[in-house]
Amino acid sequence: MENVEATIEVAEEIQEVSKAEDTMAMRIVPAEEIEGLVCEEVLEDEVPEVFALAEEMVKFCHEKQGVGLAATQIGISKKFFVWLDGDKWQLAINPVVFPDKKKSQEVLERCLSYEGKYFRVKRYKKITAVFYNIDGKTGKLKKYSRQLSGDRAWIFQHETDHTNGITIATSGLDMTTPVNEELLKRGE
Ligand SMILES: [Zn+2]
Repeated sequence: MENVEATIEVAEEIQEVSKAEDTMAMRIVPAEEIEGLVCEEVLEDEVPEVFALAEEMVKFCHEKQGVGLAATQIGISKKFFVWLDGDKWQLAINPVVFPDKKKSQEVLERCLSYEGKYFRVKRYKKITAVFYNIDGKTGKLKKYSRQLSGDRAWIFQHETDHTNGITIATSGLDMTTPVNEELLKRGE
């Protein structure tokens, strides 16, 4: 598993630099590097690295006033992200979204990978989010299932898309339609 080892090395480098210079060393990679890039599942033995990285990602995302950040956005091609669940930051590992397809809505979204831009995106109003997090007692991966709606559902869909190489700017997918600039100026 050459790729996995390479990813962990990158994670360790980032952690070391992060300790020295706070979160300044973490950076958003160019959008074209993450578009279409399907990330690898997180494995059990990668949990310590993921946990350490997630803490730094929360600080970084908070500083940037974001509500979610996927590892792929900072150049770590692994399926996990941090997101703001109301007023609490959460970690989601190997996430899968099961939408209630009866109701969807078009929402305007931003993304730290496309600073200053808005995109009109179709999101399901209610989803079942299945993901793993780190069990505080055992330190191992533990599976969770949650019903999410509203902002929480949209954020979770946005970040899970990232882990599969899909962004709000992805063209040719019905989930994602770039917003018409003229309409935006008129406030529609
Ligand atoms: Zn994003």
